Amino acid sequence: MQRRFDVCIAGAGVAGLTTAYLLAKRGYEVCLIERTEHAREASRYNAGLIVPSMAVTELYKIELKKALEWLLNPSSPIKVKPAILLKELKWILHFMRMHGIKREEGLEALRKLGELSMNTLERIISVENIECKFMRKGVMEVYVNENSLHATYEEAENIIPKEYFTLVSESEIPYFLRNVAGGILYLKDACLSPDLFLDGLSNTLAEMNQVTILNKNEVTSIMPVNSTLKTAGGAEIRYRNLVIAAGPWSRGLLSGLGTKLKVLPAKGYCILLHKPDCSIEIPLMLEEYGIGVNPCNAPIIRITGFFELSGFDKSIPRERLELIMRRVSYHIPVLAGAEVLEQASGLRPCVSRRIPVISQHAKFRNIYIITGHCRLGMTLSSGSAELVSRMIAGEELPFDISLFSLPQ
Ligand SMILES: Cc1cc2nc3c(=O)[nH]c(=O)nc-3n(C[C@H](O)[C@H](O)[C@H](O)COP(=O)(O)OP(=O)(O)OC[C@H]3O[C@@H](n4cnc5c(N)ncnc54)[C@H](O)[C@@H]3O)c2cc1C
Repeated sequence: MQRRFDVCIAGAGVAGLTTAYLLAKRGYEVCLIERTEHAREASRYNAGLIVPSMAVTELYKIELKKALEWLLNPSSPIKVKPAILLKELKWILHFMRMHGIKREEGLEALRKLGELSMNTLERIISVENIECKFMRKGVMEVYVNENSLHATYEEAENIIPKEYFTLVSESEIPYFLRNVAGGILYLKDACLSPDLFLDGLSNTLAEMNQVTILNKNEVTSIMPVNSTLKTAGGAEIRYRNLVIAAGPWSRGLLSGLGTKLKVLPAKGYCILLHKPDCSIEIPLMLEEYGIGVNPCNAPIIRITGFFELSGFDKSIPRERLELIMRRVSYHIPVLAGAEVLEQASGLRPCVSRRIPVISQHAKFRNIYIITGHCRLGMTLSSGSAELVSRMIAGEELPFDISLFSLPQ
C-alpha cells in the first residue's frame, strides 16, 4: 500500500529543510524528497550572509544604460548568455523594473519577512544547538566608488531605521581593506557557515521520528487530483499537503500543475580558502563586484561572487574565478595566495518581480510553493518556511503576505 504523509516536501535546500523542521516540530509527519542530497546546490555554495537590512536595499530599478555597461564589459560581475538574452528578454526587462511590484509595498513586505526570518533562524540555531559559527556582529558593504557609497547610504536612510546601519568613512575602514572609498556597516546583520548550518539541521531532522528523508529521489510528476506524486525511482507517495521548494527547478514541477512561473537560475561562484591567522573580523560585501567575503568559519574563508544568466549550466570557467580572486587580493591583500580548498557554483532561484514566492496554489489548495529568493535565500528562507508552516497548520499569519502570492 502507498504510504501517505501529512506533508511531502520536494527539494532539500535551505527552504525545504527549514520547512521540514518547522512542520515536524508542530507534530506533522513529513517526507522530504531530494533529487540529489540535502543542500548540495545554491544552499551550500552561497556566502552565508544573513542580511535582512540589505534585503530592503535590494529593490532598486536597474537602468538600461547600466545594464548595457555590464553586458558589454567582460569583467562585469553580471553576465547574460546571448541565447538567454534573446529567449528571456522580456523576463530580464521585468527583472530590471521589478515588474508587478510597487517599491514601497515590496520594501515593507521584505522588511517584515527579514525580521521574521532572523528571529526564526536564531531560534532554530539556539534550540537545536547547531554549531554553525553564527555571528551577529554586522555585515559591511564596501564601496570603491565614493558616489555609489553615498547614493546607497542616502537610499538606506529613507528605508532602514537609523540604528540599523552606520557610515564607515575611508579613514575608519578596517586595516585589512585597501583601495576602497568606505562602507556601510549594517549593524544587526549576521553570517554563518551554510554547510554547517544545513548539515546540522539535516542531522536534527534525521533524529526526528516523524521525518523521512528520501535522498537521490527526484519528484518527476505530481498528480494533484489524488494527491500523489511519483519519483524517478518509480515510488508513488501520497500526501495531505505538498510543498514545492525545488529552487530554480520549481518551474518544471509547477508547469506540470498548469502554473506558469518563470524561475530563472542565476549562477554564482563559491571559493573556499584556507587562511590561518586570518585577521578579517567582519563579513564583507564588495558591492560593486558582487563579491561576498565571509570569515565566520575561519580559518576557512568563504568567497562568493557574480551573477550569470546561463541556464542550468554549472560550469566554473577558470577566468571568472581568477577575476574574483584578483579583485579580492587587490582589496584584501592578506588573502592573496591563500590555499584554495574548494571551488563550486550555485544557481540562485530568481523571479522577475524580485520578491520571493511564498504561496498556496490557487487551484490545488493543499499545494504550497516557496521559491524565488534569488540573492537572499539564506537570509529569507527561515521566514518563508515559517509562513508556509503556519498556513499548513491553519495558524494566524504575522502579517499580510498577499504580495508573496504566486503571480496569476
Ligand atoms: C554564489 C552565491 C552566493 C549567495 N550568497 C547569499 C548570501 O550571502 N545570503 C543569502 O541570503 N543568500 C545567498 N545566496 C542565495 C541563496 O543561496 C539561495 O537563494 C538559496 O540557497 C535558495 O535555496 P532553495 O532551497 O530555494 O534552493 P536550492 O538550494 O537550489 O535547493 C533546491 C533543492 O531542490 C532539489 N530539487 C530540484 N528539483 C527537484 C525535484 N524534482 N525533486 C526533488 N528535489 C528537487 C535540488 O536538488 C536542490 O537540492 C547566494 C547564492 C549564490 C549562488
